[in-house]
Amino acid sequence: MSITLDLSRATASAPRPPVNLSGLTREGLRQALIDADICPPDKARMRASQVWGWIHHFGVTDFAAMSNVAKDTQAKLAAAFTLARPEIVERQVSKDGTRKWLIRTAPGIEVEAVYIPDVGRAGALCVSSQVGCTLNCTFCHTGTQALVRNLTAAEIVAQVQVARDDLEEWPSPKEDRRLSNIVFMGMGEPLYNLDHVSDAIDIISDNEGIALSRRRITVSTSGVVPMLEPLGTRTQAMLAISLHATNDALRDVLVPLNKKYDLAQLMDGIRAYPGISNARRVTFEYVMLKGINDSPDEARALVKLIEGIPAKVNLIPFNPWPGTDYECSDWKTIERFAAILNKAGYASPIRTPRGRDILAACGQLKSESEKIRASVRRAEKAAA
Ligand code: SAH
Ligand code: SF4
Repeated sequence: MSITLDLSRATASAPRPPVNLSGLTREGLRQALIDADICPPDKARMRASQVWGWIHHFGVTDFAAMSNVAKDTQAKLAAAFTLARPEIVERQVSKDGTRKWLIRTAPGIEVEAVYIPDVGRAGALCVSSQVGCTLNCTFCHTGTQALVRNLTAAEIVAQVQVARDDLEEWPSPKEDRRLSNIVFMGMGEPLYNLDHVSDAIDIISDNEGIALSRRRITVSTSGVVPMLEPLGTRTQAMLAISLHATNDALRDVLVPLNKKYDLAQLMDGIRAYPGISNARRVTFEYVMLKGINDSPDEARALVKLIEGIPAKVNLIPFNPWPGTDYECSDWKTIERFAAILNKAGYASPIRTPRGRDILAACGQLKSESEKIRASVRRAEKAAA
């Protein structure tokens, strides 16, 4: 299921929106300043550095706030580029403090980002990498939403900026942050959008900007094996693998991508992940599905499967969503499963579901973009 939204007809006559500087890497920014005749090439590195600090350290959205940039340069920047934040369609706060934003980055393109306090060092932001997903994991709500498109680096960085605006975390603090970790565990498969994910990670980890350490940035994948090595080499991000099953027969059903890259290939790919060590463990995510993958035998099979890999296992109680047939394992079953992993030497925290009341928990994210697509299709049909 990979239907892509065709907005070409709807947007054919619309002028191209100006480039948002927030989505450019340092090198991209330098080049953009030269191309737009903002400054000569020999001054571009210095100018880019200055502008960079305003955007990513101070979080400004208005060129006029760049007080050490001359007025005529500010005007040139404003004429050629934008720093506008995307529209926030909805903001919800859960009883447990989890915050969820539905962000519209372009017509018909809506993504969700979720901030979860008290996770990681201080709080983690779960970001989306695509609108919808082409992979149809049977237990995942996002998987029921066809892919609309990959997000750009600017749209990924914008999720961090929106969260930071809301948490009032500008200028970017080095210590005492509320947003200390980033996890690519929102909508979409990040390894199908590695170019933009990688640029976004370069931007948010830059020391003179948002400055989140790459060790506090985790990319979760359902197992796109050929992209594991490039992910590690290009981003040095921490790796999380959505495992969910210990044999191919079951994983083929839960994570259909397994039919393409089976468990043996996946495990080889993980063992070869650049930088993997006891200090940089892989996280295996394992969603607990009642009567499906939660027996003690499966816990033992899991221990065997990951043997020798520096790893921890996150046990995720299944988060139900409207229309699913799966149920969450009983608490006792989850604890028994965790005990077997712990005994084998693997840290295996049970992830407390957060933000369930606002459908912000793992696998519950699903934007309205699909409905918009349906309405665009209807409109196109009517116009034909
Ligand atoms: N596509 C990537 C990242 C996004 S999914 C991936 O699959 O890894 C983020 C995590 O949430 C994955 O581990 C996914 O398996 C898990 N998840 C999906 N649906 C879930 C649900 N309904 N309940 C609990 N976890 C779920
Ligand atoms: Fe896509 Fe990840 Fe959901 Fe699978 S679990 S459908 S890969 S978002």
